[in-house]
Amino acid sequence: MEQKGNIPPRYAIRLGDLRHWHVVTVTCPTCGHKGRVEATTLGRSRPDHTRLMDLERKLRCRQCGNREDNRILVSMASRE
Ligand SMILES: [Zn+2]
Repeated sequence: MEQKGNIPPRYAIRLGDLRHWHVVTVTCPTCGHKGRVEATTLGRSRPDHTRLMDLERKLRCRQCGNREDNRILVSMASRE
């Protein structure tokens, strides 16, 4: 799978740890839909101490509506 850089385990990541160079990808296990979310969008209206693992449970796939086992992946945006 996609593993790059020195990113802490996703369970340890809190919204407050995300920076603008982080790219958040949400993957739906049911339909395979992948959605890219800006870290700043994800953190909007949510407290900084929210952990990504807590957020995963609240996600809903935009394509099929699945709410279970959606995965949040954090990667580094490529520097251009
Ligand atoms: Zn889906």
